[in-house]
Amino acid sequence: MPLAPVPPGAQVRLRDEDAQHLDDVPKTELAARLRTFTDRLDGLQGALHAEAKRAVLVVLQGRDAAGKDGTIRRVFGPLDPQGLTVTGFKVPSALELSHDYLWRIHRSVPAKGEIGIFNRSHYEDVLVVRVDHLVPETVWRPRYEQINQFERLLTENGVTILKFFLHISPAEQRERLLARLDDPAKYWKFDEGDLRKREQWDAYTEAYEEMLSRTSTAEAPWYIVPADRKPVRNVVVSEVVVSALERLAPRYPGPPGELEKLRAALLR
Ligand code: ATP
Repeated sequence: MPLAPVPPGAQVRLRDEDAQHLDDVPKTELAARLRTFTDRLDGLQGALHAEAKRAVLVVLQGRDAAGKDGTIRRVFGPLDPQGLTVTGFKVPSALELSHDYLWRIHRSVPAKGEIGIFNRSHYEDVLVVRVDHLVPETVWRPRYEQINQFERLLTENGVTILKFFLHISPAEQRERLLARLDDPAKYWKFDEGDLRKREQWDAYTEAYEEMLSRTSTAEAPWYIVPADRKPVRNVVVSEVVVSALERLAPRYPGPPGELEKLRAALLR
């Protein structure tokens, strides 16, 4: 059974213990489940790409070290890169800031036939922007409704949207940030700004809760993924994406003409 989305209008409360789930399932079983889902995803992506009529947008949000990069690698890594786009949203450039906040987002929405992944997204504009007071509340608060309308526009135009909040506990985040200091191959991932964000833990919790409560809609639902254990996180995300694609049921286009005639033309 895939993870249920946040029901529209629900008041979300994030509890540390919800970052864990399926604890009794052994690692080998989780690995087998992930393989099954990524195989199915691979087949569905092939048909989605060939059909070239609909797109799927996967939004990944989460605190630092929540596993956005790892999810992309493990769940979507096995897919055909030709049908996939990955866009990371960082601190906006001067050009991006000279436009409305959805400008850079809209131009990165996947085209028909593609699965597009957002590593961070327009939701930063109600998260870091809110917590760090980058704009006044009178500017960020109306964004919940603006975002819902923007996403409605996309879904009404053939984009299926799936939004994942990778939920980790403060203890797990500490372990992962410490690990970045122990491994020279991970030094580059450590950012002193992450320490400040850790101190703002409660302010972020409030911002995430309101984001999840106000922007989980029937068309573009949020999924709160228990992300303290990476194999669990991967299985949960892949299962939701597979189920959504199965509902879309993409189909390979039919024959390109009269097959017998085409064969005869090739054999002449
Ligand atoms: P990890 O989660 O693995 O630590 P990361 O996603 O934090 O990696 P970075 O390049 O270090 O990758 O971070 C991107 C930064 O850009 C984040 O701190 C994020 O809050 C910030 N950012 C993204 N969008 C906006 C925005 N609209 N306004 C201000 N800051 C933003």
